[in-house]
Amino acid sequence: MNNHVAALMEDVTAKNPAEPEFHQAVKEVAESLVSVLDRHPEYRSARILERMIEPERVVMFRVPWVDDQGSVHVNRGFRIEMNSAIGPYKGGLRFHPSVNLGILKFLAFEQVFKNSLTTLPMGGGKGGSDFNPKGRSDQEVMRFCQSFMTELQRHIGPNTDVPAGDIGVGGREIGYLFGQYKRVVNEFTGVLTGKGIHWGGSLIRPEATGYGVVYFAKEMLATRGDSLKGKKCLVSGSGNVAQYAVEKLIELGAKAITLSDSSGYIHDPDGIDAEKLAFVMDLKNKRRGRIREYAEKFPASTFTETDLSKDHNPLWSHPADCAFPCATQNEINAKDAATMLANKVFVVSEGANMPTSAEGVERFVAAKILYGPGKAANAGGVAVSGLEMAQNSMRYSWHREEVDQRLQVIMADIHSACLEAAERFDAPGNYVDGANIAGFMKVADSMLDQGIV
Ligand code: NDP
Repeated sequence: MNNHVAALMEDVTAKNPAEPEFHQAVKEVAESLVSVLDRHPEYRSARILERMIEPERVVMFRVPWVDDQGSVHVNRGFRIEMNSAIGPYKGGLRFHPSVNLGILKFLAFEQVFKNSLTTLPMGGGKGGSDFNPKGRSDQEVMRFCQSFMTELQRHIGPNTDVPAGDIGVGGREIGYLFGQYKRVVNEFTGVLTGKGIHWGGSLIRPEATGYGVVYFAKEMLATRGDSLKGKKCLVSGSGNVAQYAVEKLIELGAKAITLSDSSGYIHDPDGIDAEKLAFVMDLKNKRRGRIREYAEKFPASTFTETDLSKDHNPLWSHPADCAFPCATQNEINAKDAATMLANKVFVVSEGANMPTSAEGVERFVAAKILYGPGKAANAGGVAVSGLEMAQNSMRYSWHREEVDQRLQVIMADIHSACLEAAERFDAPGNYVDGANIAGFMKVADSMLDQGIV
């Protein structure tokens, strides 16, 4: 490890104990920036990276709520306002029992680079709670969201901080959160994105992350004169990102053969077609059931239980051409990565944030496959959130085709920005370095312009 990176990581680890995901995210970026900092001593003397690692503000609060039986629960709420050099803080809210300060800091840090890559004026933030919506009634989820927003509203605003959805926060939760914001603040503004279509939402926002991940893979394949047509694809997750990634894969003639949730994964050798995807959408978005029901409904497929704490995830052991991890962080470890490479997977486009462990990333990069890291490949979601903010400011809505067209242009621009930055800093074809460098430089230059704040 380079001396500067080693010293920086020693400091980060000491100052932020027990936050392994945050350390992992910072280390990856710091390693990519070695030659940038060598060529730009002004970034080093202004301690730009050190300032980017320290959140501008962290809000942590109590979220008390009452369940349907009248019992009182207490959860913890967070909002990490990481960096506002290029625009208001922007990033999702995650409701999942695994949520803690370190996980949200890693997500907020990644978001700064991702938002910068989108070409839109958005700073980085992230938030959420350790609340588990699974198995809760709509009324319970509503009461939780209302309690959460009663505190969060003090810290956000359309020109300050604009949250969106993430794991466990979809259209239903955004609706309850928006309703409570409006009630308390007495203002109808674009304070959240991912809103319903009749009250300020943008067409294509629900689809954007999943579609964008596939558009990014398409761009990567085009550099080798190839396309997604006929490609066999592994997809993990079965939530928002996974569903729309599969929808776009079907449209482009690829064959998705897996999906998963926290209980396990299904393998369908015949491919998940539009009818099977409609079943998954109903199962996950309406009935809120488990993915094993897919195998009960479609007998040619199989269900396998999984546990991400085990030494490998069998979903990644099926031979395929492409992989789209769309569930959660660190779902592909070094062993999984080695298996995928042995099975000739040569495209990995990440829908989830940091789904591949550091050792797994090293293997993909060393093998020179087309590896698109999450902060570039999944930026389509926040990009369309940025377009939702623009439409809200204009009090106007674009057509579906117009938003989709803009999304495709943004994903192509992100792809070229990554390749161009990687080339300029002697790492041709390395999308990890390219995304980190391109995302960093825009924020770094803006921070230099704005003085020591
Ligand atoms: P959803 O809540 O809609 O779906 C998440 C999916 O991942 C579910 O299938 C869930 O299973 C599974 N999952 C979650 N945690 C775990 C875990 N610990 N182990 C195994 N499976 C798990 O979330 P999204 O689809 O919105 O988000 C998925 C990923 O994409 C996340 O990493 C998120 O940060 C990232 N992302 C999302 C964006 C968006 O616009 N929504 C934008 C950019 C990135 P189960 O149903 O059992 O909970």
